[in-house]
Amino acid sequence: MIVEQIWTANAYRNFNYLVACAQTGEALAIDPLDHEKCLATAKAKGWTIRQILNTHEHRDHTGGNQQMVATTGAQVLAHANAKDKIPGMDRGLSAGDVIKIGKTVELECLDTPGHTMCHICLRAHGDQPALFCGDTLFNAGAGNCHNGGHPNELYQTFATQLAKLPGETLIYPGHDYIARNLAFTLDREPDNAKAKAMLPAMKKQDAGQALVTTLNLEKEINTFFRLTSPSVITRLREAFPDLPDHPSPMTVFLKLRELRNKW
Ligand SMILES: [Zn+2]
Repeated sequence: MIVEQIWTANAYRNFNYLVACAQTGEALAIDPLDHEKCLATAKAKGWTIRQILNTHEHRDHTGGNQQMVATTGAQVLAHANAKDKIPGMDRGLSAGDVIKIGKTVELECLDTPGHTMCHICLRAHGDQPALFCGDTLFNAGAGNCHNGGHPNELYQTFATQLAKLPGETLIYPGHDYIARNLAFTLDREPDNAKAKAMLPAMKKQDAGQALVTTLNLEKEINTFFRLTSPSVITRLREAFPDLPDHPSPMTVFLKLRELRNKW
């Protein structure tokens, strides 16, 4: 499996992806908003884009579909329940479905509600596990729930699916928000030494050569995986004095999500 992370350099800071089969050069485009950059990259690599995967229905993820299809004839894949929201969908996906790319790549679909209620993450198994996580999980952060999502479901997705993936899983999110998210981590957990050490370099990072984190690293720097950290809970109590002595991880997650919305 070859992964090309494509930095759009747009105001929304989107990452698009091409995932290709090394043997056949067939490729899947994930959320190819910047269809021109995706097509130029595929051309330079000698790849043929056969499929488009939309992680979810938001316009900054689907907005390149029409031109990508017009140019390549690619099939459009997305969550089965997005069929009334994404024009021209060819295949509706459910949990456990497999997307084949060429001869060598298979990606498993995870049904990951929360950011929206029809959000798919793609999981690559094998020697180098990877997760294409759209707007569910960001580097050092979590998706918002403003436009069709629900924080309870987002928590369930984190706790019952994402947190259980192998620690060495590479994380490929839909946007570059790492600097702002690390700052939020430090606001919530000022003694997080790892986040503190990373922030200066991440503020200066060229998103065209972005750091690819692992799930293990996320568990160190991502507040939304640090729900039982004593310093996270102590600091949270300053904002929510009624917080119980031993708040459930879900309560902590929901309060953190609420604070991040205002931050
Ligand atoms: Zn979105």
